[in-house]
Amino acid sequence: MDRGLLPSIQEISRRLRLGVYLVGGAPRDLILSGRLEDLDLLVEGVGEQFARDLAEALGGKVRAHARFGTAGVDCPGGRLDIATARRESYDAPASLPRVVPGTLEEDLQRRDFTVNTLVIDLGSGPPYELVDSYGAMEDIEEGRLRVLHDGSFLDDPTRVLRGLRFESRLGFRMDEATERLARAALNDGAFDALSGDRLRREVFRLLEVEPAGCIESKLKRFEELGLAGILHPSLRIPTESLAWIGRSATASLDLPADVTRVEGWRLVLPWLLGSLEPTEQQATADRLALRPEDRSWLLSSREDLERVIEVLRRAALKPHEVDRVLRPLRSEQMARLLAFGEASVVQWARRWLDEIRLVKLSLTGRELAAAGFGPGPGIGRALESTREARLDGSIRAEEELRFALNVLNSEGVKAERA
Ligand code: ATP
Repeated sequence: MDRGLLPSIQEISRRLRLGVYLVGGAPRDLILSGRLEDLDLLVEGVGEQFARDLAEALGGKVRAHARFGTAGVDCPGGRLDIATARRESYDAPASLPRVVPGTLEEDLQRRDFTVNTLVIDLGSGPPYELVDSYGAMEDIEEGRLRVLHDGSFLDDPTRVLRGLRFESRLGFRMDEATERLARAALNDGAFDALSGDRLRREVFRLLEVEPAGCIESKLKRFEELGLAGILHPSLRIPTESLAWIGRSATASLDLPADVTRVEGWRLVLPWLLGSLEPTEQQATADRLALRPEDRSWLLSSREDLERVIEVLRRAALKPHEVDRVLRPLRSEQMARLLAFGEASVVQWARRWLDEIRLVKLSLTGRELAAAGFGPGPGIGRALESTREARLDGSIRAEEELRFALNVLNSEGVKAERA
């Protein structure tokens, strides 16, 4: 963040008599890494007026979301997020909280872990005062995640999954009491009341595979705490699955930069659910309230890949046959192939990524049109056959036009003009 913004923030907070603070991730990461990355401001009072004045002072633009008490200020130096301090109460365990404006203290009370309760008072400095009301500094020194009160996971069981993410990301560990509360919340069925949407969002965030090596440790803890059961009561994660999910994740981070970004859940879930019966896999997809297209992808992904592997094992395979089976795959499935132990499979996957998929025809449909062949399926087929001939090395780039015209003529596609 640009520290040059601090005087303007301070001047406006004093003029409007509002408390303005950095809370949560920003002070935590400042202590851990010495860097102040995101400037997420918390305002005690009416944040919207503060956002407008700040935008004016910085020559920026405000986007206010009154319903959530938040606003974004886009200014030349970057974007600032401004939230209004709030109080939360839960009508029922795992329900969405009721949110009303509150004090800084009330905003801290609703936080997940003590390490996220550090406050830097931006009205106070410089030097800016660091306020530690919950013993966060000691927890950070000890690498400890601690909930603020015993009912925390019952109020919001997604905090257990957030805890696993923080463990992996910060290299911290839940303390004994917190881990006991997590297990108790699980045994009390706290996750049962969680909506599919909220469960999916948190599980998907947990299954993100970056940075390298994190997915194994997160899944190991997921299994250790008995959390596999929140996806399906019969689900277990065997140690050997962890090893090759880890290998696929590592391979996914090595994919060329131009392939679609890997989504962790697509890399992990099909293999995690591999030991379940088809009906149990369907029940898991329902529990996660997946979108219909994601649901069918999840349920067929493994079998699709097994069919591809069968093809890649064949002897005397031609590059165009490899292209036909690999082109429809998603990047997560390619990563799985690269992590597959079998040499022929891995070699074809590598060769397709490095060479085959990059072969582009120099011939275009326009050139065939210029030769008198109008648009139609015949042209598409001729281009496809020409590309396959190029992939197999049976023609060179300068022979493409002649080859395509031969295909069109032999198929009896009629030229539009003589
Ligand atoms: P990141 O750098 O990934 O944004 P973060 O610590 O800022 O990490 P966020 O998920 O952005 O995490 O949440 C911002 C703050 O809001 C956290 O510091 C945390 O205290 C609080 N928070 C978010 N979700 C919850 C939750 N479910 N229960 C309690 N507090 C939460």
